[in-house]
Amino acid sequence: MSKPQPRDAFRSPRFSQPPTFMRLPYRTDLTGVDVALVGIPFDSGTSYRPGARLGPREVRAQSSLIRPFSHFQQVAPFDRLTVVDAGDVDTSPLSLDLAHESIETHIGGIVAAGALPLAIGGDHSISLPVLRTLARKHGPVGLVQFDSHIDTWDGDFGSKLFHGSSFYYAVTEGLVDPRRFVQVGIRGPMYGPDDFAFQRKHRVTVLDIDEVFRIGLDAVSARIHSVIGSGPAYITFDIDAVDPAFAPGTGTPEVGGLTSHQAQVLVRGLHGLSVVGADIVEVAPPFDGPGQITSLLAANLLFELLCIVARRV
Ligand code: MN
Ligand code: MN
Repeated sequence: MSKPQPRDAFRSPRFSQPPTFMRLPYRTDLTGVDVALVGIPFDSGTSYRPGARLGPREVRAQSSLIRPFSHFQQVAPFDRLTVVDAGDVDTSPLSLDLAHESIETHIGGIVAAGALPLAIGGDHSISLPVLRTLARKHGPVGLVQFDSHIDTWDGDFGSKLFHGSSFYYAVTEGLVDPRRFVQVGIRGPMYGPDDFAFQRKHRVTVLDIDEVFRIGLDAVSARIHSVIGSGPAYITFDIDAVDPAFAPGTGTPEVGGLTSHQAQVLVRGLHGLSVVGADIVEVAPPFDGPGQITSLLAANLLFELLCIVARRV
């Protein structure tokens, strides 16, 4: 049986039909599926300006333009993998705890079906329940985090969980092996010099934005590979790793970041890692610029991630 393909753009215009990711079939029966695109429209873990709950819809809409072959990775992912759009997780917008429970259950179903979850957030808190699910199957995983923020604070406003505490708990709950955890693109004003105490204590690798530009993208990719090694790895891409000039549609923008192209090159550089799941988070369409450039970038980075997974098959 031939694998599902995006709708043929020569027969069905790209702006037609309900927008699934890259116009793939929408399917919730994941029997035989290799990769499940799944939306997690939840942003009640946001501490500044909300809007990422609208990310999955707009990223899907902007993904209509993406063509199915990667020249730069020389791969046609839909020929190698069975990929479907598995729809969204239904989450409570009113309770972070309930939402995280439903995310964990829903992603658990995807993983149990043997599919790799490729998630579209949502705020960055959604990575924690996804990692809880994956760690149950794989044990502590390696983690590549593209972000301008460290997200290793232990809480905010009296709540342990918010979009800035995901990786504090991912490490302290044993979901992520901190020696196999690398943060890329960190920048912006901090609360104080102790913000990196967690990284020092747990030996988390930080490649801040100055180091990224000082050593160059190829060296960054080499560092990522040496930290992560060959074990199972999760990729989390907070869109605010990219400069707000290129990705203004996000809740906590930080100036002085990556260009769109640098982000693409860094994701392509993940080729060879044993990826067991990935997400792109913090796309907030209400703050996006003309042309929905942030959602368009997020859709393209998801495609690059898909190609990374396909190249290992
Ligand atoms: Mn983040
Ligand atoms: Mn961030």
